[in-house]
Amino acid sequence: MWEDLEVTVEKVPADKRKEKPSADKLGFGVHFTDHMFLMKWDRERGWHDSKICPYHDFTLNPAAMVFHYGQAIFEGLKAYRGKDNQLFLFRPKDNFERMNNSALRMCMPRFSAEKMVKILKALIYLEKDWVPAAEGATLYIRPTMIATEPTLGVKPSGVYYFYIILCPVGAYYAEGCNPTKIYISDEYVRAVKGGVGSVKTGGNYAASLYMSEIAKKAGCTQVLWLDACEHKYIEEVGTSNIFFKIGDQLITPPLEGSILGGLTRDSVLKLAASWGVDVVERQIAIDEVLAANESGQLQEVFGTGTAAVISPVGELLYKDRTHVINNCQTGPLSTRLLTELQAIQKGYQDDPFRWLVRVA
Ligand SMILES: *Cc1c(COP(=O)(O)O)cnc(C)c1O
Repeated sequence: MWEDLEVTVEKVPADKRKEKPSADKLGFGVHFTDHMFLMKWDRERGWHDSKICPYHDFTLNPAAMVFHYGQAIFEGLKAYRGKDNQLFLFRPKDNFERMNNSALRMCMPRFSAEKMVKILKALIYLEKDWVPAAEGATLYIRPTMIATEPTLGVKPSGVYYFYIILCPVGAYYAEGCNPTKIYISDEYVRAVKGGVGSVKTGGNYAASLYMSEIAKKAGCTQVLWLDACEHKYIEEVGTSNIFFKIGDQLITPPLEGSILGGLTRDSVLKLAASWGVDVVERQIAIDEVLAANESGQLQEVFGTGTAAVISPVGELLYKDRTHVINNCQTGPLSTRLLTELQAIQKGYQDDPFRWLVRVA
């Protein structure tokens, strides 16, 4: 199998493998598995040295371009242990295609998404004992590409690393799915049309930290971003997309360059539409949301993303005023979406859109 993929394999000897953390100590992104995937790119050879190898530190020149100009992209997806102890991936090819779009925008090399799915399946199979069995726990997958050429001129790097690391992560809803309190910033912005808001690139997250700290001090868990020009239209929330159920409609902002096109967002749009829900992608102003809340038309607000799938929003803090949504309760549509998406991801339910990829 490895030969066909042109990947060499160096396995960690059985007696040198790490001890697996217990289910209650998983956390998020703190424990890494025994192996990783790594390949390198340069102008002469293209992608080369593809290997599955022991998880290890990198030695990089301090001038490596990623440290200075942030030419770096990543992805986030999960492997699930589900029905009959089988292992599944959810829409992995879409993640790698999105990463190729990110690569294009950041002047980085692209790769075959199809082949990368095969490599990922092989890597997950090798690390199958790391896919947690505890309820809600999963194996988080982080594909990453960084610019490693040691030169200080501002230009696209001529050398890159692409790697995939894996970490077992705990149930997102350890204490049940409780609606969160969200801070709406009318001062700081995340991204502007024409910029890189639609790209999963490190700088977007570095730029969001300052506002996130302000939100935390105000007792909120995430920031809801408004558009960069008028500070009026809703964009997204933290590292999730956002949905509003107003009357009979399920509304989410359109993908027009400043927000990230989430795969969970896309899955929610397709699934809800298949249930007969009136789904609408359109600009929606914060004033419209708050007015709908006042008039009792705003029924549910929730974020969507790989980490939590669906995360209900219970309160919005905007211009020093707290607006409570749906009595701070999780609504029926949020609950149904969460339940059904999780059931699809673990192979317990029909998969009408053929999103699921079985690893083993
Ligand atoms: C990754 C990400 C999302 C969610 O994408 P999914 O594919 O659903 O996980 C949304 N917004 C931002 C800014 C993100 O980085």
